[in-house]
Amino acid sequence: SEFEDFFLKRELLRGIYEKGFEKPSPIQEESIPIALQGRDILARAKNGTGKTAAFCIPTLERVDSSKPEIQALLLVPTRELALQTSQVCRELGKFLNLEVMVTFGGMPLKDDIMRLYNTVHIIVATPGRILDLANKGVAKLQACKILGMDEADKLLSQEFQPVIEQLIGLLPADRQIMLFSATFPVTVKQFKDKFLRKPYIVNL
Ligand code: AMP
Repeated sequence: SEFEDFFLKRELLRGIYEKGFEKPSPIQEESIPIALQGRDILARAKNGTGKTAAFCIPTLERVDSSKPEIQALLLVPTRELALQTSQVCRELGKFLNLEVMVTFGGMPLKDDIMRLYNTVHIIVATPGRILDLANKGVAKLQACKILGMDEADKLLSQEFQPVIEQLIGLLPADRQIMLFSATFPVTVKQFKDKFLRKPYIVNL
């Protein structure tokens, strides 16, 4: 298939081609049309398969730049992955007029608070930091209908799991969860059973 087949906004398609992507990778081919419908997704995906764009593209399509609120949260386990993912999101969304913010533990909280005075549409974050900002009332997640989770096996480690459950409690009831994981330990299975609704399973 082709990226045109997904009927994406012209500006998004332009960002995709400008990044040098010509055709969707298998994981993108399978996930993007489902994710665009707002369905929950559970995907087994290793690094190098194009998984980042697989959840960034539907996120960018579904976020409305005219609404000045956080509409998507992309959770990742490490600062490196946060930086990488936000970069991909910004590149693909270059022509969309969206504000993408990245944050992780160890960065000055004050800077985050300042940035959140302005409009942010998409936040890429590690779990502890975004929960902290949400609990302080600085990051408002009540309109955040999209939750992307990359490297979910690591995100659902003992340390992060309660944090993630608290975060989900702050999202609206009609949220969409896109979960990507290289492996499927019992923690991921339990999470799926508890929080995902009729997820579409991608197993490549
Ligand atoms: P990821 O699995 O998200 O870490 O992506 C692995 C690499 O594949 C990155 O360098 C991406 O820029 C690249 N990539 C992702 N999707 C595509 C695509 N559809 N066509 C060409 N390269 C891609």
